[in-house]
Amino acid sequence: MRATVIYGAGDVRVETVPDPKLAEPTDVVLRVVRSCICGSDLWPYADMPPREHGRRIGHEFLGIVEETGADVRGVKKGDLAVAPFVWSDNTCEFCREGLQTSCLHGGGWGAKGVDGGQGEAVRVPQADGTLVKLPHTEDDDLLASMLTLSDVFSTGHHAAVKARVSEGQNVTVIGDGAVGLSAVLAAKRLGADRIVLMGRHQARTDLGREFGATDVVAERGEEGVEKVRELTNGQGTHAVLECVGTKGAFEMGVGVVRAGGAVSRVGLPQYEDGPIGVGVFRRNVTVTGGVAPARHYIPELLPDVLDGKYQPGKVFDRTIDVEGVPDGYRAMADREALKVLIKP
Ligand SMILES: [Zn+2]
Repeated sequence: MRATVIYGAGDVRVETVPDPKLAEPTDVVLRVVRSCICGSDLWPYADMPPREHGRRIGHEFLGIVEETGADVRGVKKGDLAVAPFVWSDNTCEFCREGLQTSCLHGGGWGAKGVDGGQGEAVRVPQADGTLVKLPHTEDDDLLASMLTLSDVFSTGHHAAVKARVSEGQNVTVIGDGAVGLSAVLAAKRLGADRIVLMGRHQARTDLGREFGATDVVAERGEEGVEKVRELTNGQGTHAVLECVGTKGAFEMGVGVVRAGGAVSRVGLPQYEDGPIGVGVFRRNVTVTGGVAPARHYIPELLPDVLDGKYQPGKVFDRTIDVEGVPDGYRAMADREALKVLIKP
């Protein structure tokens, strides 16, 4: 089969690799129907040291079950199913607490002999715990929206849940990438009243408005903080959903959060220290967030996606085939594309 392999910064190739086979009785072989490129794939694309042997990549996909191991009960051949961005047994103590990202028997895609999602097929470990069955559909828009459950919509939702977004609250979302826009949609879904989106790419912030943003602030740094404070009587917002991962974004988050509020981070932090001293302490600000247990949220979010009430799949603005993946990375890195959908 054909699959994506990354060899270093800027060096993504599509190669012929061995077809996936069942290795454990709990495995499924899934033929990928839709996959995509993640903003977090752009970090190794930017700075991974070159290697002689590349590694497989891609962690968001849905597809048709082709083969099932002897112990698999939850899905059968021919089912359509979505995989969250990590695999998990869904039975250990962490999974039972809804923290499948810390599963004792789970792991990531594209590492340690596990396939990546940006290819034609994937061996899915712990398939009963990992996969969520979906209704069959040929509808491109619905497939795209269901695919976002794998990562971006679930991650945006996690940001909002950890910040305790609820009815009538004011929310700031930092970042107009696919996760930021998904966080706008998630905050709206949880009943946020005012949603300030901090971003400066108009096509993206326009989609943010469609998703529920009431205000857009293009300024960054202190100027951006000032703008958000002006919009909120100088108070800041109850919740801040930080969907970028840079220190500057976190600093803005601390700058615009209301006393007693929460800064929830779901952008992969590219820093090790930040402003968590007396300013945060004195104002009783909660710093929260983390990697999203998408598997925990999919059953809750899926019905709202199926009935068309929420269409997170609108974040995809380009569709390619597997051979087009290297150019898809380039397009996202150059900010030509917001999020690239792969249709093998
Ligand atoms: Zn587990």
